[in-house]
Amino acid sequence: MTNKMPVLFIGHGNPMNAIEENPFSNSWIEIGKKLPTPKAILAVSAHWETLGTKVTSMEKPKTIHDFGGFPQVLFDYQYPAPGSPQLVRSIREIIKNTPVEADTTWGLDHGTWSVLARLFPNATVPVVQLSLDRQKTPLQHYQLGRELSELRDEDVLIVSSGNIVHNLRAVVFNDEEKYPWAVSFDEKVKNWILTDDHEPLFQYEKHGQEAALAINSAEHYLPLLYTMGLKSEGESIEFFADKVTYGSLSMRSVKLG
Ligand code: ZN
Repeated sequence: MTNKMPVLFIGHGNPMNAIEENPFSNSWIEIGKKLPTPKAILAVSAHWETLGTKVTSMEKPKTIHDFGGFPQVLFDYQYPAPGSPQLVRSIREIIKNTPVEADTTWGLDHGTWSVLARLFPNATVPVVQLSLDRQKTPLQHYQLGRELSELRDEDVLIVSSGNIVHNLRAVVFNDEEKYPWAVSFDEKVKNWILTDDHEPLFQYEKHGQEAALAINSAEHYLPLLYTMGLKSEGESIEFFADKVTYGSLSMRSVKLG
Protein backbone atom coordinates (compact mmCIF):
# COMPACT_ATOMS: atom_id res chain seq x y z
CA MET A 1 0.00 0.00 0.00
CA THR A 2 1.26 3.42 -0.86
CA ASN A 3 0.09 6.71 0.52
CA LYS A 4 -1.45 8.94 -2.07
CA MET A 5 -0.27 12.51 -2.23
CA PRO A 6 -3.04 15.07 -1.63
CA VAL A 7 -4.18 17.17 -4.61
CA LEU A 8 -4.66 20.93 -4.48
CA PHE A 9 -6.57 23.57 -6.36
CA ILE A 10 -5.59 27.08 -5.32
CA GLY A 11 -7.61 30.18 -6.20
CA HIS A 12 -4.59 32.43 -6.79
CA GLY A 13 -6.15 35.87 -7.42
CA ASN A 14 -3.79 38.82 -7.09
CA PRO A 15 -0.07 38.05 -7.70
CA MET A 16 0.72 40.17 -4.62
CA ASN A 17 -0.45 37.19 -2.54
CA ALA A 18 3.07 35.83 -3.15
CA ILE A 19 4.60 38.49 -0.92
CA GLU A 20 1.77 40.29 0.87
CA GLU A 21 0.42 39.03 4.15
CA ASN A 22 -3.36 38.62 4.04
CA PRO A 23 -5.96 35.97 4.95
CA PHE A 24 -5.45 34.18 1.60
CA SER A 25 -1.67 33.97 1.71
CA ASN A 26 -1.88 32.98 5.38
CA SER A 27 -4.26 30.14 4.60
CA TRP A 28 -1.86 28.85 1.89
CA ILE A 29 0.98 28.93 4.43
CA GLU A 30 -1.15 26.91 6.88
CA ILE A 31 -2.05 24.32 4.23
CA GLY A 32 1.61 24.10 3.22
CA LYS A 33 2.54 23.16 6.78
CA LYS A 34 0.12 20.22 6.67
CA LEU A 35 1.45 18.78 3.42
CA PRO A 36 3.93 15.92 3.22
CA THR A 37 7.11 16.88 1.36
CA PRO A 38 6.67 15.64 -2.21
CA LYS A 39 9.38 14.26 -4.48
CA ALA A 40 8.27 16.75 -7.13
CA ILE A 41 5.40 19.12 -7.90
CA LEU A 42 3.36 19.18 -11.10
CA ALA A 43 1.70 22.58 -11.49
CA VAL A 44 -1.24 23.35 -13.80
CA SER A 45 -1.52 27.12 -14.16
CA ALA A 46 -4.23 29.27 -15.74
CA HIS A 47 -1.47 31.40 -17.22
CA TRP A 48 0.02 28.95 -19.69
CA GLU A 49 -2.28 28.25 -22.64
CA THR A 50 -0.82 26.53 -25.69
CA LEU A 51 -1.77 24.61 -28.80
CA GLY A 52 -1.18 21.02 -27.74
CA THR A 53 -0.16 19.88 -24.27
CA LYS A 54 3.32 20.85 -23.08
CA VAL A 55 5.45 20.33 -19.99
CA THR A 56 8.41 22.44 -18.90
CA SER A 57 11.45 20.24 -19.31
CA MET A 58 14.37 22.50 -18.39
CA GLU A 59 16.69 21.79 -15.44
CA LYS A 60 16.27 25.34 -14.12
CA PRO A 61 12.90 26.87 -15.04
CA LYS A 62 12.95 30.66 -14.96
CA THR A 63 10.57 32.74 -12.86
CA ILE A 64 8.23 34.49 -15.30
CA HIS A 65 6.76 37.85 -14.27
CA ASP A 66 3.74 37.71 -16.57
CA PHE A 67 1.85 40.78 -15.36
CA GLY A 68 2.03 44.56 -15.38
CA GLY A 69 1.39 47.39 -12.94
CA PHE A 70 2.79 45.83 -9.78
CA PRO A 71 5.56 47.07 -7.46
CA GLN A 72 9.17 46.39 -8.45
CA VAL A 73 9.57 44.03 -5.48
CA LEU A 74 7.20 41.59 -7.22
CA PHE A 75 9.18 41.76 -10.47
CA ASP A 76 12.34 41.07 -8.47
CA TYR A 77 10.86 37.98 -6.82
CA GLN A 78 12.52 34.71 -7.82
CA TYR A 79 11.31 31.17 -7.19
CA PRO A 80 14.42 29.15 -8.00
CA ALA A 81 12.98 25.60 -7.75
CA PRO A 82 14.74 23.13 -10.04
CA GLY A 83 12.93 21.34 -12.86
CA SER A 84 12.57 17.56 -13.04
CA PRO A 85 13.43 15.79 -16.29
CA GLN A 86 12.54 12.58 -14.44
CA LEU A 87 8.96 13.76 -13.81
CA VAL A 88 8.71 14.89 -17.43
CA ARG A 89 9.63 11.33 -18.51
CA SER A 90 7.02 9.82 -16.16
CA ILE A 91 4.31 12.16 -17.45
CA ARG A 92 5.09 11.36 -21.06
CA GLU A 93 4.92 7.63 -20.24
CA ILE A 94 1.65 7.64 -18.34
CA ILE A 95 -0.35 9.94 -20.62
CA LYS A 96 -1.53 7.70 -23.41
CA ASN A 97 -4.25 9.73 -25.12
CA THR A 98 -2.46 13.03 -25.67
CA PRO A 99 0.96 13.75 -27.13
CA VAL A 100 2.96 15.69 -24.53
CA GLU A 101 5.62 18.01 -25.87
CA ALA A 102 8.74 18.75 -23.80
CA ASP A 103 8.99 22.54 -23.67
CA THR A 104 12.21 24.48 -23.14
CA THR A 105 10.89 28.04 -23.52
CA TRP A 106 8.41 28.65 -20.70
CA GLY A 107 9.26 28.39 -16.99
CA LEU A 108 7.21 29.05 -13.86
CA ASP A 109 4.56 31.73 -14.39
CA HIS A 110 2.90 33.63 -11.56
CA GLY A 111 -0.04 31.20 -11.44
CA THR A 112 2.52 28.68 -10.17
CA TRP A 113 5.11 30.63 -8.22
CA SER A 114 2.76 33.05 -6.42
CA VAL A 115 1.18 30.00 -4.82
CA LEU A 116 4.28 27.83 -4.32
CA ALA A 117 6.02 30.80 -2.68
CA ARG A 118 3.58 30.25 0.20
CA LEU A 119 3.16 26.46 0.13
CA PHE A 120 6.88 25.66 -0.27
CA PRO A 121 8.79 28.88 0.46
CA ASN A 122 12.20 27.18 0.36
CA ALA A 123 11.79 26.37 -3.37
CA THR A 124 13.77 23.14 -3.00
CA VAL A 125 11.17 20.69 -4.40
CA PRO A 126 11.50 20.30 -8.21
CA VAL A 127 8.60 21.78 -10.21
CA VAL A 128 7.24 20.95 -13.67
CA GLN A 129 4.43 22.97 -15.28
CA LEU A 130 1.77 21.47 -17.54
CA SER A 131 0.13 23.74 -20.10
CA LEU A 132 -3.57 24.11 -20.89
CA ASP A 133 -4.25 23.01 -24.46
CA ARG A 134 -6.65 25.57 -25.97
CA GLN A 135 -8.11 22.92 -28.27
CA LYS A 136 -9.28 20.60 -25.52
CA THR A 137 -12.87 20.52 -24.31
CA PRO A 138 -13.56 20.84 -20.57
CA LEU A 139 -14.24 17.08 -20.49
CA GLN A 140 -10.87 16.40 -22.11
CA HIS A 141 -9.10 18.53 -19.49
CA TYR A 142 -10.89 16.54 -16.78
CA GLN A 143 -9.89 13.25 -18.42
CA LEU A 144 -6.28 14.36 -18.75
CA GLY A 145 -6.30 15.09 -15.02
CA ARG A 146 -7.58 11.56 -14.41
CA GLU A 147 -4.76 10.11 -16.50
CA LEU A 148 -2.22 11.78 -14.23
CA SER A 149 -3.57 10.09 -11.10
CA GLU A 150 -0.84 7.46 -10.74
CA LEU A 151 1.63 10.29 -10.07
CA ARG A 152 -0.09 10.63 -6.69
CA ASP A 153 1.29 7.19 -5.78
CA GLU A 154 4.77 8.32 -6.76
CA ASP A 155 5.05 11.17 -4.25
CA VAL A 156 4.19 13.84 -6.80
CA LEU A 157 2.01 16.70 -5.56
CA ILE A 158 -0.29 18.06 -8.28
CA VAL A 159 -1.20 21.72 -7.69
CA SER A 160 -3.66 23.44 -10.01
CA SER A 161 -3.89 27.22 -9.88
CA GLY A 162 -6.70 29.40 -11.22
CA ASN A 163 -9.97 30.83 -9.85
CA ILE A 164 -13.40 29.18 -9.88
CA VAL A 165 -15.09 32.53 -10.49
CA HIS A 166 -12.88 34.94 -12.44
CA ASN A 167 -14.30 37.87 -14.37
CA LEU A 168 -11.83 40.71 -14.61
CA ARG A 169 -14.25 42.83 -16.64
CA ALA A 170 -16.63 42.86 -13.69
CA VAL A 171 -13.99 43.30 -11.00
CA VAL A 172 -14.51 46.11 -8.46
CA PHE A 173 -11.80 47.56 -6.25
CA ASN A 174 -13.45 46.68 -3.00
CA ASP A 175 -12.41 43.38 -1.51
CA GLU A 176 -15.61 43.05 0.52
CA GLU A 177 -17.94 43.37 -2.47
CA LYS A 178 -19.52 40.27 -4.05
CA TYR A 179 -21.89 39.99 -6.98
CA PRO A 180 -24.82 37.67 -6.22
CA TRP A 181 -24.10 35.62 -9.37
CA ALA A 182 -20.49 35.14 -8.26
CA VAL A 183 -21.50 33.92 -4.81
CA SER A 184 -24.23 31.72 -6.24
CA PHE A 185 -22.03 30.04 -8.89
CA ASP A 186 -19.19 29.55 -6.40
CA GLU A 187 -21.67 27.87 -4.04
CA LYS A 188 -22.94 25.59 -6.81
CA VAL A 189 -19.42 24.49 -7.65
CA LYS A 190 -18.79 23.83 -3.97
CA ASN A 191 -21.85 21.58 -3.80
CA TRP A 192 -20.96 19.68 -6.97
CA ILE A 193 -17.51 19.05 -5.51
CA LEU A 194 -18.94 17.93 -2.15
CA THR A 195 -21.44 15.53 -3.72
CA ASP A 196 -18.93 14.08 -6.22
CA ASP A 197 -21.18 15.32 -9.02
CA HIS A 198 -18.48 16.06 -11.58
CA GLU A 199 -20.55 16.18 -14.76
CA PRO A 200 -21.91 19.70 -14.15
CA LEU A 201 -18.33 20.80 -13.42
CA PHE A 202 -17.17 20.01 -16.93
CA GLN A 203 -20.52 20.89 -18.48
CA TYR A 204 -20.48 24.38 -16.96
CA GLU A 205 -21.54 25.91 -20.26
CA LYS A 206 -25.03 24.47 -19.65
CA HIS A 207 -25.57 26.57 -16.54
CA GLY A 208 -26.73 29.74 -18.22
CA GLN A 209 -25.94 33.38 -17.59
CA GLU A 210 -24.52 32.89 -14.11
CA ALA A 211 -21.88 30.45 -15.34
CA ALA A 212 -21.15 32.62 -18.39
CA LEU A 213 -20.42 35.56 -16.09
CA ALA A 214 -18.41 33.49 -13.61
CA ILE A 215 -16.33 31.81 -16.32
CA ASN A 216 -16.12 34.56 -18.92
CA SER A 217 -12.82 33.15 -20.12
CA ALA A 218 -12.26 29.56 -19.08
CA GLU A 219 -8.51 29.45 -18.41
CA HIS A 220 -8.85 30.24 -14.69
CA TYR A 221 -11.59 27.65 -14.22
CA LEU A 222 -10.08 24.77 -16.22
CA PRO A 223 -7.28 23.96 -13.71
CA LEU A 224 -10.04 22.91 -11.27
CA LEU A 225 -11.05 20.16 -13.70
CA TYR A 226 -7.57 18.60 -13.39
CA THR A 227 -7.94 18.55 -9.60
CA MET A 228 -11.38 16.97 -9.76
CA GLY A 229 -10.27 14.40 -12.36
CA LEU A 230 -7.63 13.32 -9.84
CA LYS A 231 -10.08 12.65 -7.02
CA SER A 232 -10.25 9.11 -5.65
CA GLU A 233 -13.51 7.67 -4.40
CA GLY A 234 -14.36 8.56 -0.83
CA GLU A 235 -11.37 10.74 -0.15
CA SER A 236 -11.65 13.79 2.07
CA ILE A 237 -12.44 17.24 0.67
CA GLU A 238 -11.31 20.40 2.41
CA PHE A 239 -12.04 23.99 1.34
CA PHE A 240 -9.94 26.93 2.42
CA ALA A 241 -9.64 30.64 1.52
CA ASP A 242 -13.27 30.22 0.39
CA LYS A 243 -14.32 33.78 -0.13
CA VAL A 244 -15.59 35.83 -3.05
CA THR A 245 -13.69 39.10 -3.24
CA TYR A 246 -13.44 42.15 -5.56
CA GLY A 247 -16.98 41.45 -6.76
CA SER A 248 -16.19 38.70 -9.23
CA LEU A 249 -13.24 36.67 -7.95
CA SER A 250 -13.63 33.47 -5.95
CA MET A 251 -10.56 32.54 -3.94
CA ARG A 252 -12.07 29.16 -2.98
CA SER A 253 -9.32 26.57 -2.79
CA VAL A 254 -9.63 22.80 -2.47
CA LYS A 255 -7.54 20.07 -0.89
CA LEU A 256 -8.31 16.44 -1.68
CA GLY A 257 -6.88 13.69 0.51
ZN1 ZN B 1 -4.49 34.51 -12.72
